Formats: sequence, C-alpha cells, structure tokens
Amino acid sequence: MKKPALQLEGVSQVYVSAKGAFLALQDVGLTVNQGEFVSLIGPSGCGKTTLLSLISGLMAPSAGKVTVLGEAVVRPTPKVGYMLQQDYLFPWRTIYENAALGLELMGRLNDTSKLYVKELLGEMGLARQADRYPHHLSGGMRQRVALVRTLATEPDLLLLDEPFSALDYQTKLQLEDLVVETLKSRNKTAVLVTHDISEAIAMSDRVVMMQPNPGRIMTEVEVPEAIRKALPLDAREQEGFHALFRKLWGYFEAIDGKEGASYG
Ligand code: ADP
Ligand code: MG
Repeated sequence: MKKPALQLEGVSQVYVSAKGAFLALQDVGLTVNQGEFVSLIGPSGCGKTTLLSLISGLMAPSAGKVTVLGEAVVRPTPKVGYMLQQDYLFPWRTIYENAALGLELMGRLNDTSKLYVKELLGEMGLARQADRYPHHLSGGMRQRVALVRTLATEPDLLLLDEPFSALDYQTKLQLEDLVVETLKSRNKTAVLVTHDISEAIAMSDRVVMMQPNPGRIMTEVEVPEAIRKALPLDAREQEGFHALFRKLWGYFEAIDGKEGASYG
C-alpha cells in the first residue's frame, strides 16, 4: 500500500484574540491519496484557508495531527507547495527570476533546476515572457508564473487557495485545464480551495464540503469517472455533471438556511 499523500486526524484549530477564543476548525479528518485531486468547498469563514495553513505547516493545529507522505508536519516542508489567489510576483524581478524564486530561497538553484524552470515556463506558454516584468503580463499569465514557481521546487502535494477567483471566466476555464493536465501528467496530489461548485466538480476526483461555526467537514462526494476522466472544460458536458452540481448546491443552501452565511 502506498502511503497517503495527506492525512488529517482530529484536527482542530482555536484562534485566540482580545474577543476570546474562536473554534475555527473542529475535529477534521481527511485522507488524500497520492495523485488524487481533492477540492474543498464551503461558505466563507468555514476554515478552508485555515486548513491549508495547517497542512502547509505555517501553523500548528491546536489539536490533532497532520501527516504528509507518512511524516508529521511540524514546519513548512519542500514536499508541500502553496499557491495563493494573489500571485505575489515581485515587480522588480523578471518572469524567470520570479519563477525561480522558490528554488533560490531553498538554495537549490543550479544548472539543472534553472533548466527545469525554463522548461516549465515553456510548457505554460511563457517562454517568450521570461525576460519581461510582471506588469507586462495579463492576470492569467501571472497566475501561470505563480504555478511555475510552485512546481519548480517539485513538491509532491500542491495546495491551491482560490487561484482562479480573480480571473475572467474564459481565462479561468483555460487555466483549469492547464493545471489539471500539468498535475495529472506529473502524478502530483492537489488540494484546491474554491467557492465555485462547477470548478470543484470539473477539476477533482473528490469534493469535500465544509460548513462553518465551527468549521468542519459536512460531507464528501466522489466525482463520477466519466467527469473525472475529461478535462475540466469537457467535464462540464458530461452526463451527471448537473445532477452533482445540484446536489452540492443543495448543501450550500442547507447551510445558508441554518447560518445565514455568505459564499466565498
Ligand atoms: P475560509 O477560508 O473558509 O473563508 P478562514 O480559514 O479564512 O475561512 O477563516 C475561518 C474562521 O477563522 C473565520 O471566522 C475567520 O474570521 C477566523 N480567522 C481566520 N484567521 C484568523 C486569525 N488569524 N485570528 C482570528 N481568527 C481568524
Ligand atoms: Mg479562504
């Protein structure tokens, strides 16, 4: 048996502030297998970003255990790559220099890794942009640079926190396909946070629905094989897609009815 890429056991997170203690996550358990693509969806404030921070080792959970490839996570590790909604490209660095930043920070920039960055830039259709600066690029291109930077350090597990939410619809669909193709071809494991139900279904093998107050897992659904096998754009045309969308939509409404929560 292969080790799971990610395992969360009884994970809880309490934030303490002047107003008191707030239970942001309660008893979260989740296993993600190697090569699997899992989406986390749920209303704003249900703890999705908190969960990614715990998985990435940026924060330690108040209770419970986070394990990546069989090892307890106690601090950030190169095994985990984190891509955010905002691309955080440095305006004074070229596209190539931004893409190589992670490797540089880890002290792993050498001839081989430099070549790999250039290869990835080529794969993402950015070869001709390598010597340009971020302000020359569209939002979709900038997110592709951020993806190259995340992939360049060769993490096994990628965490994606709403990476497409600031993009226009067409660019977002193109990037969904590109990301799924790139990650599947490298057998990477991914956890995607999104508030877009159709994006979650189209991109993933499994969708995990969370609910707030306190943040916890409400339910999980497997995405049917026909949808899983298709690239995100075609996945939306597959039989069963709309039924699954309706089902997940129903969960959102059930939470809304109870909590008066907002989407996001
Ligand atoms: P999501 O990403 O699902 O919108 P978050 O993980 O960002 O949710 O936040 C979950 C809850 O925890 C929210 O109610 C938020 O206000 C609270 N929260 C997040 N970060 C902090 C923090 N550093 N200190 C106190 N409360 C926080
Ligand atoms: Mg968030």
